Amino acid sequence: MVNDSTDGMADDHMADDHMADETQFLEVDAGDTIWRFDRHFLGSNWTCIWGRGCQGILAEPAEHLGQGCCSLGAELDGLDEARNVAALAATISSELFQHHAEATHGGVFSDETRANTRVVDGACIFLNRPGYAAGAGCVLHLAAIAAEESPIDWKPSVCWQLPVKVEWEMRSDDVEVATVRGWRRADWGDDGDTMAWCCTEGHEAYVGDRPVVESLGEELVAIVGEPVYLELRRRWA
Ligand code: SF4
Repeated sequence: MVNDSTDGMADDHMADDHMADETQFLEVDAGDTIWRFDRHFLGSNWTCIWGRGCQGILAEPAEHLGQGCCSLGAELDGLDEARNVAALAATISSELFQHHAEATHGGVFSDETRANTRVVDGACIFLNRPGYAAGAGCVLHLAAIAAEESPIDWKPSVCWQLPVKVEWEMRSDDVEVATVRGWRRADWGDDGDTMAWCCTEGHEAYVGDRPVVESLGEELVAIVGEPVYLELRRRWA
């Protein structure tokens, strides 16, 4: 839906863009969707520190477990995404996929609704644990790289989008407003209250060598569509 809204974007929409709040948001009007980009987060040098300081999302700091934000499993964005993840998972070898046997016998979802990935041994079934011979980390990510494809096409959307959060709001004039900002503890819901979450709200992960608008460019294109991203970059200052 997000990309569909920008496909027919005309240049005159771009010309009408204006700054809603120069201190925080850069706004791009794509016609039926107005995109608001949080300059503060997109201009920061946040970077994922999984395996190099990430404390995870459990109640106690647990860098040694290497779970990052995978302890709860992933919430899937509907049945199409669930089917895609299941189909791709079925192509991954037992050598690469640490929990291949569990996936074969119990499936990769938490239940028949296919709304969440299954948690095995305290974390997402797709998470290869530290020390696993074929490689630690998300096996969907590892398999995508091995296939020379983008992990965006293999992983649940919430996994490749985090720490980018999009808030959707429908205005009374039927124009959607989408605010693109950094993920916050509150975005985890009640689970967030007790997490040893350091990711975007501590200082540890602000050690990247480029601003997020650049380092997460592929992800932002996938979220907002290329025309809106190019306009964002053209006006970024
Ligand atoms: S996105 Fe944040 S919480 Fe998730 S692995 Fe990276 S640093 Fe850790």
